[in-house]
Amino acid sequence: MAFIGIDLGTTNSLACVYQKGEMILIPNQLGKYQTPSVVSYTENGLVVGEAAKSNLILSPDQTAASFKTFMGTNKIYNLGGETYLPEELSALVIKQIVADAETFLQEPVTEAIISVPAYFNDAQRCATKLAAQLAGVHVERLINEPSAAALYYQMTYGKKDGCIMVIDFGGGTLDVSVVECFENIIEIIGIAGDNHLGGNDVDHEIAQFFCRQNGISLENLSNEERAILYKQAEKAKIMLSANEIATMVLVAQNKEYRLILTNKLMTEICNDLFQRIKKIINQAVKNCSRRPAIDNVVLVGGSGKLTALQKYLSDLFGRQVYAAPEPEKAIALGLGVYAGIKLRDEQMQDIVMTDVCPFSLGVGARHSTQDQTVYMETMIIRSSMLPCAKEKIFYTLYDGQTALNFKIYQGEQYYVENNLELGEITVSVVPDKAGNQWAKVTFMYDINGILYVSVQSCTGEIKEKEIVNEKLHLTQEELEKSKEKMTNMIENQLNLDENELIQKFVYLYQFAAPFEKSQIGFAVSNLQNAYFSGSPILRKKTYENMRELLKELEYHISQEFDFKDLLYQEDLSWDEEE
Ligand code: ADP
Ligand code: MG
Repeated sequence: MAFIGIDLGTTNSLACVYQKGEMILIPNQLGKYQTPSVVSYTENGLVVGEAAKSNLILSPDQTAASFKTFMGTNKIYNLGGETYLPEELSALVIKQIVADAETFLQEPVTEAIISVPAYFNDAQRCATKLAAQLAGVHVERLINEPSAAALYYQMTYGKKDGCIMVIDFGGGTLDVSVVECFENIIEIIGIAGDNHLGGNDVDHEIAQFFCRQNGISLENLSNEERAILYKQAEKAKIMLSANEIATMVLVAQNKEYRLILTNKLMTEICNDLFQRIKKIINQAVKNCSRRPAIDNVVLVGGSGKLTALQKYLSDLFGRQVYAAPEPEKAIALGLGVYAGIKLRDEQMQDIVMTDVCPFSLGVGARHSTQDQTVYMETMIIRSSMLPCAKEKIFYTLYDGQTALNFKIYQGEQYYVENNLELGEITVSVVPDKAGNQWAKVTFMYDINGILYVSVQSCTGEIKEKEIVNEKLHLTQEELEKSKEKMTNMIENQLNLDENELIQKFVYLYQFAAPFEKSQIGFAVSNLQNAYFSGSPILRKKTYENMRELLKELEYHISQEFDFKDLLYQEDLSWDEEE
C-alpha cells in the first residue's frame, strides 16, 4: 500500500513517491510527469489530462480547465449534460493520477498528501480534501505549496537555516511566499499573490505583440487561428529557455505572418507583467509578520523557466536568483521529501511546518452613538502564525443597553460591510450607564483553519461559536459590489471634503501594515466624530491634521522596498553545492 504526494496544480498536476531514500516522480501513461489539470467530455465519456487538453481548442464548450481557481465555490461546469463542481473535476484529476501511480508502483495507493496554495482558506482546503475523498484516497495532510518548495530546496542543497523567498509562477497564478527555515521548523512568514497572473498572460502578450508587428488584429482572427497563435506563442516562449531565438509562423486568411522572438524582446514584451510581479513581491514582504532577511530567491513553477524573468529578477535583487533546472517539479519533489519524513526515513529528521492565517479576522464595532458606521476591529491580523489566540474587551455604548452583539468578519477592509460575515454572537448585560457593562471577546484560530470565538459578558454569561468550513473568500464580483456600497454609504453621511479624505484612508487600509491600520482607524473615527460634533472649528482642525497624516501614510504605504536591501548580497547558503 503506497503513500504518494500530489501537486494538484491549476495547469498541471504531478505525483511523487519516496522509496529507498529517494524522491521518485511518477510518470503517467504517456511517460510524462505532468498531467494537465483538464477534464473534457468526449463521445466515449470523460477524459482527463493530455487528451482533455487538446479538446480545449477542438471543443471548448465540453472542456474544463483551471478549476482549481474556483475550489470551494459553487461554480458549476456543464460537461456532457452533467453538472460538476470544481472539487468533482479535481477528483477526476486525482483519480487519474492515482490510477497512473498504481500502474507504476504495482500496488494500491490509499493515502496521499496534497499541496495547496498558502492562501487557500478553509473552504478551499475542505474542497481539496473532499476531492481526494471522492477519488477514494485518504488525505493524510494538506501541505502548503511554498513549504513543499522550501523542503525540496533544503533537502537538495543541504539542510541549512535561513530565509527564502519562493516565487511560484505557474500557468495562471503567481504566489510569492517568504519562508523561514530554522532547526527543523518551516514557517511561512508572509504571502501575497495574484490569481490572474501566469504563463497564460505571457502567451497573451506575445500574441498581441505578434499581431502588432504584423499589422493584424487579434479580434479579426477566427477562433481557430487565435488558438493556433496562442499555441505558437507558448511554443516560442518555451523554446527561448534553451535557445537565443524562436520563430513564430501563423497562416491566417491565406497569408503567412512571421515573427522572430529573442529573450531581449521578451523583456520588453513582458515589461508590464514583470512590473506586476514586482508589486506582488513588494506586497509579500510587507505582509511578513516580521522584517525578513532573505538569503535566497527561489523560482518555482513552469513559468519560472522564463529566461527574461530570471534576468529581470536577478537585476532587481542585484544577485542571481535561483531557478531549479525543472522548477515545475519542485513542489511535487518537496512532497516526496515530506513523504520521506512521514515514513520516518532515517536520513530525514522530523520537520515541523507551521502555517499563517491568510486573512484578518475580527468583529464589527462602533466608535460612538452618533456614528452609525460599523468598522472592523481586527482580532487576528493577516499573516499571524497559527495557532493563535487574541482577546479584547468591548463596552456598552448606550445607557440601559441590555445586550452586546458581535458580528464576526474576515477581510482587510475598514468597513465591515466590505468584509465577509462569518457569524454572530450576542450576550446579555444588565441595564446600566453607557461604558459600565462589557464583554470579553476571544478568538482562537487553529492549524486546521478552524476559528473558535467565545464571548463572555461581565455578568458571567458565556457563548461560543465554532466557525468551520464557511465560504471564507470574497469573489471579484462581491468585492466590486462592496466597493459600490461603500461609496454610497459614505456620501449619505458626510460632506464631500471629509468624505473624500475618509475614502482615501479606507482605500489605504487594505495595504497597510498592522500599526498603520490602527492609525487609519484612529483617523477615520476622528473625522467622523468631528463631523458629528457639528463644530466647524473642530471639523476644520481635524480635517487639516488628518490630511497631514494621510500624506504621511500614503508615502509610507506606497514606498517600495529596495530589493537589493532585502537580499544578502553575498551568495550564501543553498547554491553552494551547485
Ligand atoms: P500550475 O502550477 O499553474 O499548474 P505549472 O507550474 O505547470 O503550472 O506551469 C505551467 C506554465 O509554465 C504554462 O504557462 C507553461 O507555458 C509554462 N512553461 C512551461 N515550460 C516553460 C518554459 N520552458 N519557459 C517558459 N514557460 C514555461
Ligand atoms: Mg503549481
